[in-house]
Amino acid sequence: MSVLLRNATIVSMNGRREIFADADLLVERGRIAAIGALSDAELPPGTEIVDLSGRIVLPGLVDAHVHTSQQLGRGIADDVDLLTWLRDRIWPFESHLTEDDQHLSTLALGVEMIRSGVTTFSEAGGQHVDAMGRAVIQLGLRAALCRSSMDTGEGLPAGWVQPTETVLGRQIDEHDRWHGAADGRIRHFFGLRTIFNCSDELILKTKEIADSRGTSIQMHVAEVPAENAYAQETRGASTIEHLARLGVMGPNLMGIHCVWLTPREVELFAEHRMPAVHCPSSNMRILGFAPIPDLVAAGVPVGIGTDSPPCCNRSDMIDEIYLAALIHKGHRADPLVLPAERVLEMATVSGARAMRWDDEIGSLEVGKAADLIVIDPRDIGVLPVHDLVSTLVYAMHSRAVTDSMVAGRWIMRGRRVLGIDEDALLGEIAARSALIAKRAGITLPERSPVVRVR
Ligand SMILES: [Zn+2]
Repeated sequence: MSVLLRNATIVSMNGRREIFADADLLVERGRIAAIGALSDAELPPGTEIVDLSGRIVLPGLVDAHVHTSQQLGRGIADDVDLLTWLRDRIWPFESHLTEDDQHLSTLALGVEMIRSGVTTFSEAGGQHVDAMGRAVIQLGLRAALCRSSMDTGEGLPAGWVQPTETVLGRQIDEHDRWHGAADGRIRHFFGLRTIFNCSDELILKTKEIADSRGTSIQMHVAEVPAENAYAQETRGASTIEHLARLGVMGPNLMGIHCVWLTPREVELFAEHRMPAVHCPSSNMRILGFAPIPDLVAAGVPVGIGTDSPPCCNRSDMIDEIYLAALIHKGHRADPLVLPAERVLEMATVSGARAMRWDDEIGSLEVGKAADLIVIDPRDIGVLPVHDLVSTLVYAMHSRAVTDSMVAGRWIMRGRRVLGIDEDALLGEIAARSALIAKRAGITLPERSPVVRVR
């Protein structure tokens, strides 16, 4: 099937960051076949022609770190300290998910991601990888799946901490099953939860296996000062310095959060070409200000992630883009820090590079996969458009994303997500999330007096 997008403003994010005005984009066999001015005579027979006058076409956004297993727990851990957040709310909730709950949770978050312009996501790591994969196939998204992996640690739910060989064996099975599935739309990354939960043996073996299989690893790093103190105490160095000494830093180890870094650790990211993922709203809720402007300035590929739904409360990449562009300016009292162009790169090409998928996605160029979104700027909260890139970063709302395509296949048309009955999904989300919270024994204190009038 071929599709021609006609008369669009195409924000390509190519090497020269060109924006093509009144241009056409031809999709053939899932890839971008041409960008320019194309006459009907040049089109393959049966091409679907979509007039996009007044619309903007962007590469599909990359959510480089998102916990699909936590979507049904949104709202269970607001305004609490980190230990309560983890031990009393998130861990019990997540550990009571069944395979079916994970499937529903991924569908729910998948729809939210599609509506906010995401076409590719990097799963942070849950316990039911097959269920995630089934949901990704159903929605037509592109994703890297990952299992949350731990072989040490205290206070964790039963069954989460497994012997090192079991942790690796499970992931190897999942890698065999999912890496390259759905015509290559699905990849599988290895997971290392945090330095608190991973022995050096697990870290080293994971790196060795990921290298030999040509895939990536996700690890939460430098999240809180207590983490660096723990690494110092148990390994004699901060998390990043320790990973450098182990020899595991590199382009296939994605460092998530990277909040509490020294200038020397920023240099280590750059020296090892190790990618970083910035999760602005979850940083603001719990962790602090990450030195993202320094990582970007050092040439580190930095992506943006929405992170955990009970942390960001809105898994909306466009809100994260807005936050990423704002918070560092306020924190450093410097309006020149992280300009709009850099932030748009983080959400597209740099995110793709952080996932080592930039040969296929992240920009609109001939030969790349046709992963793209259509934006209608005729919205009271968006207009007027004086400066296009700046508008996309500072004024856009996710409701302006009207259509979405992955590998040449529409997954949303006119704000309707295809492949799912959204009304039925909403009913199931409400019912199932209450059941899981009950099963997990989570009861929230009443914050306001509730008056029952009936
Ligand atoms: Zn995370």
